[in-house]
Amino acid sequence: MLLTISTTASPATDLGFLLHKHPDRVQEFGQSFGTATVFYPEAGEDRCTVALLLEVDPVALVRSRGRNSPDFSLSQYVNDRPYAASSLLAVALADVFRTARAGRCKARPDLPGTALPLEIRIPALPCRGGPGLARELFEPLGWQVEAEAVLLDGAFPEWGDSRYVSLTLRGTLRLADALNHLYVLLPVLDDGKHYWVAPDEVDKLIRAGEGWLAAHPARGLITRRYLGRRWALARTALARLAELGDETEERLEPAVDEEAAPDETAATEAASVAASAEAEQEAEPGSAPPEDKPRPLNTLRREAVLATLEELGATSVIDLGCGQGELVGALLARPRFARVAGADVSSLALTIAARKLRLERMPDAKRARLTLFQGALTYTDRRFTGYDAAVLMEVVEHVDPPRLAALERVVFGHAKPQHVIVTTPNVEYNVRYEFLTGLRHNDHRFEWTRAEFQEWANRVAASYGYQVIFRPIGEEDAEIGSPTQMGVFSRD
Ligand code: SAH
Repeated sequence: MLLTISTTASPATDLGFLLHKHPDRVQEFGQSFGTATVFYPEAGEDRCTVALLLEVDPVALVRSRGRNSPDFSLSQYVNDRPYAASSLLAVALADVFRTARAGRCKARPDLPGTALPLEIRIPALPCRGGPGLARELFEPLGWQVEAEAVLLDGAFPEWGDSRYVSLTLRGTLRLADALNHLYVLLPVLDDGKHYWVAPDEVDKLIRAGEGWLAAHPARGLITRRYLGRRWALARTALARLAELGDETEERLEPAVDEEAAPDETAATEAASVAASAEAEQEAEPGSAPPEDKPRPLNTLRREAVLATLEELGATSVIDLGCGQGELVGALLARPRFARVAGADVSSLALTIAARKLRLERMPDAKRARLTLFQGALTYTDRRFTGYDAAVLMEVVEHVDPPRLAALERVVFGHAKPQHVIVTTPNVEYNVRYEFLTGLRHNDHRFEWTRAEFQEWANRVAASYGYQVIFRPIGEEDAEIGSPTQMGVFSRD
């Protein structure tokens, strides 16, 4: 199976830098299911083409599958996998062009951000849904699509079309975006031939779809097919896309266990969950020509918390359950916050936070303002003390209700900062996510109505000597309130 990427950028050989593969060499990369070879059929100043050739070893393919994989029959050995640009090609592409897909290029840091005139050709692409679907998926992303059905047998045209399409994409795009489009959409067109679907596929999909999937008109179909019709996974992914709008990013909430789709109807409903992404968005107040992108809820949340902290005059802040450190980064960017801390129970979250904050390369003055540590909010910890304000942004709903009293004691009774800001979803607003069944994230142990949140917050405030006021975050509906609710606690 073959895929070629050509560019007419000048000089066209920049493609070699971007892909981290020298145009003069033929390089082989072993995969668990075969061998991927990268070479350049042409490498001139005016036009340069890279080819990715994947030779699948059907025996290796069968051996590399899990013991519980279904259908251990001859059809596993005799199938189209060696010839058709299937999901396996996407896996190989992701592996071989990993750095390019991440948009990194040490030698030429300016290159990944530049859109290049690209032409991508895939001569035999299994495409359930035919050429029309290929257009439907690639055109909204800025590609000019040429998709032709391949005849079942050229000698017998009356037999009609095969399920393969010869695809050419042309467009001026960033190479990293092009690779991410292919990584997600090849298996989606292939459909139902997944060899690697695991719970972390949700994370991979959200990451590869960053900046384009949340706003794609066919995101429901893409998500469902990409995840091999595992309904529970698709639902998680779509709820996360809806939360993130098109500022998609890695999140840590663990994906749920796989469940087979109960039926196709249920699965198609998933599409509508994503459709409610817009419902969750609100344009920036007093601005916004219509083509402006709506602002994702997590951005609104972060801004509301920052504004409140400034209003309260806090200069030292601890973010409890800091996740991947987005708020911590925003706090550090504002010099008024002289001391900033982030704590989380998840060491993985902290590792990602350290990477995203570029802790290694942080200038000393900034680094000196920051403390990042692992800790559980249900255990008294001296390191939580000594800050003007503590933030619990989208954290309480991750704590099992029987453990909540411990968290209250730790935060309000022991750490007892002057101010505590708590944000949490308003479950009443979930009716806006038309087909969302259950909670917004699989790791949520509960979601509160406004009355439930206020009752909890008033009780906690009264027990520990705080006053609390409530503020909406995001679009506020007269009947169902806002998507996120915030309680701002201040010590008496
Ligand atoms: N505040 C971040 C992350 C929210 S996700 C944001 O708004 O983006 C919830 C976070 O709470 C996760 O990172 C999870 O690891 C953390 N968390 C859950 N229970 C916790 C506990 N008992 N102690 C500390 N952190 C906890």
